[in-house]
Amino acid sequence: SPVILWFRRDLRLSDNAALSAAVETGAPLIAIFIREPAPTTVMPLGAAQAWWLHHSLTALANDLKDRGADLVLASGRAEDVLAEVAKETCASTVYFNRCYERDDIDRDIARDLKREGVAVEAFHGQLLQDPQVVRTGAGKPFRVFTPFWKAMQALGEPRDTVEAPKTLPGFAFSPRSERLEDWDLLPHRPNWAASFENIWHPGEAGAHERLSDFIENGLSDYREGRDVPARDVTSRLSPHLAHGEITPAQAWHATSGLAGVDPAQVTHFRRELAWRDFSYNLLVTFPDLATRNWNSSFDGFQWSFDRKHFRAWTKGLTGYPIVDAGMRQLWQEGYMHNRVRMITASFLIKDLMIDWRKGEDWYWDTLVDADPANNAASWQWVAGSGADASPFFRIFNPILQGEKFDPDGDYVRRYVPELAKLNRKYVHRPFEAPEMVLQQAGIVLGQTYPKPIVDHASARDRALATYRSIG
Ligand code: FAD
Repeated sequence: SPVILWFRRDLRLSDNAALSAAVETGAPLIAIFIREPAPTTVMPLGAAQAWWLHHSLTALANDLKDRGADLVLASGRAEDVLAEVAKETCASTVYFNRCYERDDIDRDIARDLKREGVAVEAFHGQLLQDPQVVRTGAGKPFRVFTPFWKAMQALGEPRDTVEAPKTLPGFAFSPRSERLEDWDLLPHRPNWAASFENIWHPGEAGAHERLSDFIENGLSDYREGRDVPARDVTSRLSPHLAHGEITPAQAWHATSGLAGVDPAQVTHFRRELAWRDFSYNLLVTFPDLATRNWNSSFDGFQWSFDRKHFRAWTKGLTGYPIVDAGMRQLWQEGYMHNRVRMITASFLIKDLMIDWRKGEDWYWDTLVDADPANNAASWQWVAGSGADASPFFRIFNPILQGEKFDPDGDYVRRYVPELAKLNRKYVHRPFEAPEMVLQQAGIVLGQTYPKPIVDHASARDRALATYRSIG
């Protein structure tokens, strides 16, 4: 009888433990992706991710077809769909890779399937090391990154990776598939994702192209360059990792033994991959990471919500150029540079005093790399409410951050064209520029580019006073 391979956030054929195990049985393969109704414990698909998913599924279906198998698309509760397919095809076993953000849901699904007489085999592979492996001496999960990273390095290299099978034993009587077009994952009017197509290449092949490009052009300058948003030296692997088109172990091993690359650069890159593992370890320890403060003393924090401020933040119209550039990059590319994610998040939380969860939701909807662990852990890190968080009183000054990390203003000019002609001295502080300088740059503050929506110095005092009230 055939076996079922259930694809989820693991849209790849290489280094796919569930696929390898399924193929090893020698049984015909039914590959399936299920569009599930949003379960209450996992956030529903964001709009930018939906765009990505459409293209990634198209690529996966082609890759499967090239090897002799079809991708079946189905909608419904996973346990119902899988039980039905097993019944219809007499399949004996469902294979899948574990998604740690939904382990409890999957446990219930496995229990239901077993009740129907269908066996379930679950595998690891989403992280460098499985959660529960990296532990303190006392066997507890880590709450601080640096010792986590040390413990991880002490474990040695991550497991070896596996090549994609050359051929697949397709199943002649696969159930009928729904049509991807009918899932309506792509935006219509307006097509806000039009610019994504020039930037991203979803799918496994795109992920490996991205990795090779990074190794060739970014890695040797990673440590110094990764904090400079105008320079594109980071890997941009995040959406590929978030959709499981490539594994972090593949990225790790691809950077081994490279001639002419300083090992310190490689270690720095791997350390960032380990941050992702760390986020997942936090999520496994505290499954409400996306919705509840890790540090419960933040539960009494008096957030405020000014709708106009929030809107200005989402649209990149706050009057602080580095914040606006970041938010517009996010809108145009479904991505934002890490340094600017920190600056824009800090601005929302500390300058506008808006609850981090509002920002986290916005990112979730607009990022192609929206990741249940990284997004939640990072927002809590910036807010100061997380494990190993940046202290609340460390409040980024958006002007100084801009001048430090975008000293020539190139990043701002790229995403905020209204400021393109403003000189280096004022590009991060147009509100201080003399009228003549503004005129020469064709800027009318309050008309062509906004005045700051809050004064940073007084916003900072307000944030600190509110923070003291919970301390
Ligand atoms: P590179 O620098 O090339 O790093 C390689 C990989 O390491 C990344 O793809 C990512 O998987 C991991 N990584 C790098 N930096 C971090 C980090 N600080 N924390 C955890 N993992 C990291 N990352 C997401 O993948 N999804 C999110 O939804 C997400 N939301 C974020 C929200 C906020 C407020 C902040 C401050 C950061 C967020 N990050 C998120 C982390 C980080 O910004 C991105 O992973 C990174 O910018 C992706 O670009 P890259 O692939 O070029 O990274």
